[in-house]
Amino acid sequence: MKGLVCTEPNALELRALPELVVPPGWVPVDVRRVGICGTDYHIYTGNQPFLSYPRVAGHEVSGVVGPDYTGDAFQPGELVLANPYLSCGACHACSAGKPNCCETISVIGVHRDGAMTQRIALPPGNLLRADGLTPDQAAMVEFLSIGRHAVARTHVVGGAPTLVLGAGPIGLASALFARIDGADVTVADVSETKLSIASDGFGFPTLNLGAIDTGDLTSRFTHVFDATGNIKAMNAGLFHVAHGGTYTLVSVVKDTLAFPDPEFHKRETTLFASRNALNEDFRFVIDAIRAGKIDTDRLGTHRTTLTDAVHDLPAWARDRDTVVKAIIEVA
Ligand SMILES: [Zn+2]
Ligand SMILES: [Zn+2]
Repeated sequence: MKGLVCTEPNALELRALPELVVPPGWVPVDVRRVGICGTDYHIYTGNQPFLSYPRVAGHEVSGVVGPDYTGDAFQPGELVLANPYLSCGACHACSAGKPNCCETISVIGVHRDGAMTQRIALPPGNLLRADGLTPDQAAMVEFLSIGRHAVARTHVVGGAPTLVLGAGPIGLASALFARIDGADVTVADVSETKLSIASDGFGFPTLNLGAIDTGDLTSRFTHVFDATGNIKAMNAGLFHVAHGGTYTLVSVVKDTLAFPDPEFHKRETTLFASRNALNEDFRFVIDAIRAGKIDTDRLGTHRTTLTDAVHDLPAWARDRDTVVKAIIEVA
């Protein structure tokens, strides 16, 4: 089988890979679509910490259960999508029902080889049925679930003024699910291109943080979500939180958060980190797509094939502003 291999930073090759060996009890999946995520661009450009090369990236995946599957969790041929976070099942987080932050989590396409290939295998508990969805839609469930998980952790209050910082795919996902839960959402970024996608494509009021006095936003929002991946924005985001409000950090940076305690304390801020997503978030997103609440046609802005991704992925990594979600079609 063929796979897209990142041999070292800035080097992608379509290579022949050894035939897949399916571990006992796992489910073979013939890959149909793979969404390209910020993580995949970082793996390509060499900005992903703790990553070893060569690596097959890809964790946003839909496919059909292989014809050779003999277990009883799924029917061969049915459309499934992956929860790509493999957890130990025994650590404190796993015992508490939070495998999304397992102490020894292993994410396909990051810590082990992923889905930019023709076949993968996963434990049955890491696959969800995607009937009623197209293969494209099914491959978008993972990144949407990241936003859904952040909103679920926050317990958004209906009608609450809510600010989502960062208008990339994860920011958009957070904004969409906060709105589904009734929040009054404004999306902020410094990229006019990304903001016009949020406003024209999805109807969100927007703020260009580069063009306004951010002091005017002080203490205005019951809920603030950060999806910027920018430490300055993450540190500044606290000031936008209303007294009694919440601050939810979705994106991760390799840096130190620093808040003045009086600012943090006087608001009695509730601070959340949100990591990955749970199967219940995936199911929530699947139901929302089935119910027509998410305009997946507008989210899927670019597409390519496994062969053409060798050129397209590097091009998109260089210029991501117009790319909401790019999808690789796997034959
Ligand atoms: Zn992703
Ligand atoms: Zn665990």
